[in-house]
Amino acid sequence: MPTHPLRMDTEYLELRTRHPFIIARGGQSDYRTVWVRLRDGDGNEGWGEAAATKFYGETPESVLSALKLYATALPSDPFDIEETERRWGLLLRENPAARAALSSALHDLVGKRLGVPVYRLWGLDPAKAPRSTFTIGLDTPEKIRAKVLEAEQYPILKIKLGTDRDVEILRTIRDATDKEIRVDANGGWTVKQAIAMLPVLEEFGVTVLEQPLPPNELDGLAAITRRASIPVIADESCRTAVDIPPLVGKVDGINIKLAKCGSLREAIRMIAVARAHGLIVMVGCMIESSIGITAAAHFTPLVDIVDLDGAALLANDPFAGAAIDGGQVTLPTGPGLGVRRR
Ligand code: MG
Repeated sequence: MPTHPLRMDTEYLELRTRHPFIIARGGQSDYRTVWVRLRDGDGNEGWGEAAATKFYGETPESVLSALKLYATALPSDPFDIEETERRWGLLLRENPAARAALSSALHDLVGKRLGVPVYRLWGLDPAKAPRSTFTIGLDTPEKIRAKVLEAEQYPILKIKLGTDRDVEILRTIRDATDKEIRVDANGGWTVKQAIAMLPVLEEFGVTVLEQPLPPNELDGLAAITRRASIPVIADESCRTAVDIPPLVGKVDGINIKLAKCGSLREAIRMIAVARAHGLIVMVGCMIESSIGITAAAHFTPLVDIVDLDGAALLANDPFAGAAIDGGQVTLPTGPGLGVRRR
């Protein structure tokens, strides 16, 4: 069988959130991601998206440079995913968002060649996906009330904290709704602040606490987890599978994001490692279009907690793929990722 070399095309996506998306480290309304397309010689295209964040050392520009280098090591056979990803990792170790986009594009391409959705390649039942949260970013009490109303269709809200007015934010939200609330401090608290917040979280009926402390404060995380009556989840403290063993006994679970771990295969490995240690598994996202969200949505049948609202927060998503309407994760049934242009 003749093999055609894969061709890579890249394009910036200019995304805009409905409201400025603010977390403990800051925020904005305009986001730029990179759309990656791998084409084979038979008219098949595999798609991926790189959602670069400065916090993890990437920018859209660094993603493009990294992709140029990775393009020198594209596989002649797109089914050769494991070895290709290993080579990319050796070529340039960091740049997880850039590598995740390529990993997604290879999985999409393979699924399209076989005519099956990625979740079926993995043997997963899409009906097993947990419901997704919808995030309410930091804002004034009036705007927070308006956002809670706008989020009416979503049964579980995730609240960003890590400010000096966290109690006020929680009260504003609890006064506006009876829904389940999970919180994410994005590393914005000290151990003392976090411990002081625990009874407050309990008072407002919060069910999950994500990343109370800065990433490297594992002993502090352990102190909080010991005292907390709700699960404590590590996000910024956990990028890839090797970060999981040091977190065992210190947190209750981990949050996997493709833009941190760099590969769909690594995400599946992380799930296995976390399960072996009895940890809760969450999947999260960046602000990204339906391409990036759908790539992560394909393994949601394997996780406990889903936070894949990145595309739902957008005013101008160019693509349609996995949806979280009414909180329910719905996977597209088309081959590969199943993503199409709107
Ligand atoms: Mg988080």
